[in-house]
Amino acid sequence: MHNSHKDPTQEHDFIYSIEDGQSLTDNQCFLCGVALIETNRTDEHVFPQWLLRRFNLQNQKINLLNGTSLPYSKLKIPCCNSCNNEHLSRIEIEVGRAFQDGPGAVSALDRTTLFLWMGKVYYGILYRELFLPADRKDPSAGSIVSADILNTFRMHHTLMQAARGTVRWHQGQFPASIFVFRTQEPADPRDRFDYVDILHFPFLAMRIGSTAVVASLQDWGALANSVKVPGIEAAKKLSLHPQQFREVSALAAYMTTLFNRTPKHIVVSREDHVEIFTLPIAGLSGKFIFDEFSSEAYMHILAQILGMEVSEIYDGKSYRTLLQNTDGTPYTMPIGLDGQPEA
Ligand SMILES: [Zn+2]
Repeated sequence: MHNSHKDPTQEHDFIYSIEDGQSLTDNQCFLCGVALIETNRTDEHVFPQWLLRRFNLQNQKINLLNGTSLPYSKLKIPCCNSCNNEHLSRIEIEVGRAFQDGPGAVSALDRTTLFLWMGKVYYGILYRELFLPADRKDPSAGSIVSADILNTFRMHHTLMQAARGTVRWHQGQFPASIFVFRTQEPADPRDRFDYVDILHFPFLAMRIGSTAVVASLQDWGALANSVKVPGIEAAKKLSLHPQQFREVSALAAYMTTLFNRTPKHIVVSREDHVEIFTLPIAGLSGKFIFDEFSSEAYMHILAQILGMEVSEIYDGKSYRTLLQNTDGTPYTMPIGLDGQPEA
């Protein structure tokens, strides 16, 4: 409806147009694309204020892709009044309440609500980086994230329109794999929050108080339903130590990179929305939907997410996971104990 390219003479001008929908300027709403003027312009906090307050994060910083950092409180994106105060605030209230109550409540959330909330955080960071210079001393270096990169997330942006009710997915289908884990809470509130994502893949993980959420945003349930990853299965039975959270995030992130299908969609225009029907993920190919797990490749992602060198965690043959004992059972790792499980 707020599509900036809409032609008012067109009969179905309320139908969201996938081709034109993604706004890439900071005088448009990041979500619906409407032109922002004084009367409808608001700032949407990518990381909501309830989260910043609850964990004392106002002055903490997030690292950006170019190696610089930005305070969480300045991570805001342009948003129109109705997207911000109607659609997104409804989601925010539900999600904020659930995280307050813990993993049971977060698991019980409507999964579309959780998907949209996580999807907004993920997309919001990239969107903010579209307007930040890659190098403050060199204006010709462009922005941290280019419009081309953001364009590769066009389908993600389309799915986000579900927040406004203009896009829905076919009954029984769901765009993402989302895992909810129980986590231990460190003494300092600032240490009760953690955020992980990876470049070029719609994946993110957040640890918020006693709950962690880990999501592969566009695999249409493949990671959750088509494969059993031992480390992820172990994590489901644990109350995760912060380091275990990082490890299971790395594992799910790596699995996301192994997903080898590009889902195909049929978009059907309904009266007041479009419906996305996703064709069966496996399709006609007999090949498994995840590429083969390579310890070596995984070690690079794990090291990156742990903030360590590969050589510190991997001797070329094996590494000691923090998620499982050597016999495969879940490894209980209380806070205060930062070492590896006994061999
Ligand atoms: Zn809007």
